[in-house]
Amino acid sequence: MSETDMNATSTGRDDSYEFSIIPIEVPKINTKYRKIITSIPSEDSVQIINQLRQSEPDSMGLELPVVWDKAEDFQVYDAAGNCWIDFSSGTFVVNAGHRHPKICDAITETVKNNYLHNYYFPSKIRAKLVQKLCDMTPKNLDKVFLLTTGAEATECSIKLARIFGRKTNPQKIGIISFIGAMHGKTLGALMVGGKTKEKHWIVNHDPDMHHLPFPDISSDEKTFYDDLKNLEKQGVDLSTIAAFMVESYQGWGALFYPKEYVQALRKWADEHNAIVIFDEIQSGFGRTGKLFAFEHYEVDADLVCCGKGISSGLPLSAVLGRKHLIDVDPSLNSTHGGNPVCCAATLASLEILESENLISESARKGNIIENSLEKLKNRFPNRIQISGKGMVYAIHVKKLSQPGLDVQLVDKIIEKSMQKGVLLIRTGTGTIKIGPPLTIPDDALVDGLSVIEESISELI
Ligand code: PLP
Repeated sequence: MSETDMNATSTGRDDSYEFSIIPIEVPKINTKYRKIITSIPSEDSVQIINQLRQSEPDSMGLELPVVWDKAEDFQVYDAAGNCWIDFSSGTFVVNAGHRHPKICDAITETVKNNYLHNYYFPSKIRAKLVQKLCDMTPKNLDKVFLLTTGAEATECSIKLARIFGRKTNPQKIGIISFIGAMHGKTLGALMVGGKTKEKHWIVNHDPDMHHLPFPDISSDEKTFYDDLKNLEKQGVDLSTIAAFMVESYQGWGALFYPKEYVQALRKWADEHNAIVIFDEIQSGFGRTGKLFAFEHYEVDADLVCCGKGISSGLPLSAVLGRKHLIDVDPSLNSTHGGNPVCCAATLASLEILESENLISESARKGNIIENSLEKLKNRFPNRIQISGKGMVYAIHVKKLSQPGLDVQLVDKIIEKSMQKGVLLIRTGTGTIKIGPPLTIPDDALVDGLSVIEESISELI
């Protein structure tokens, strides 16, 4: 990825293309995994979308116009009988597939036999879940705090880092993150994130949140130290750095860091009494072919923010961490954190991850994706770049005659793929994001990938 491409895409959405909500006649499809039997969107979908548009923020109109009636494993159905292969996992949530029977059973049993809510009291299911999380994650992560959303987890980790930093130096509250990073949409999460365009309303930016350029493929240890020096030149006192907040791969482009760069960051943090937080909200629980994506860099984490794929469906997030960091704040609790139904679903999902070997399956199936996308890249060498690992990939579609990525063309490719029976993730940045449930069968994966190639070749 060149600098120009990064700058063009890392700062926020360019929403100039609107998915059509006028039903269009499209070729009918009836294959093993895909069925398109009506105009798209279907007439009754349009009615529902219009109702939503009247009462919801305009921004919700960015959704693909597929009104879900039912989702099962790797497939999504609408009420008109159309059926799609889901390459989105509901934006990286259903790692164990939609409505896995064991997750549904765990939820149903809790609802039928126990309770929907038990805040602010202990529960057996919460105890089982936190034990499981401590057992299955790296040894140094010995405590867990449960929350509800990803942004809450990143906000919480910022707080822990700062309280801990201030124990040695009252000014030690600096957090270093990366340009283009996504850590959530609440105030602190947005400020620590690196999507400049989305921060216009903040006005009073936190002067102790700093952003380094996202390292490109050629970056190494020296790049990291040079970037820190630049920060120093801008007036940042590096002794005030409490933490690095690292999105384990950069979401919009499924971009991974060079290993040497992250190892240098880890070393510097250790030498300067700073902690390293990995944001695994999108990348955790097998998505990249390892339990956590940061394991690709062969470093330790001090705090890990989890969400999305942790539960395969219900809202639960977590901060995992070293005991002395989690215990540094005596005020941690949250009304829906550790909700028993969400705990039951999460525990079941983690057990499925293990019993169905979904982490190694993710690595294996990732090779299928990579081989297919390599062929695509070779077919369109001037227009396409790819990045990713395991079950997350991004196809970067370059503009024809100028630098930057082609946001509009990508949106049209996503729309075309929807008309052919495949649901993709819209990033609004010129990348087609692929993230199927880790359970998807090989032939469905290959079929979905062939639809992407077909759509690209029809439109590029
Ligand atoms: N961090 C990362 C890396 C994410 O991808 C997201 C969501 O997309 C978040 C944080 C925020 O999570 P949530 O939308 O649950 O607040």
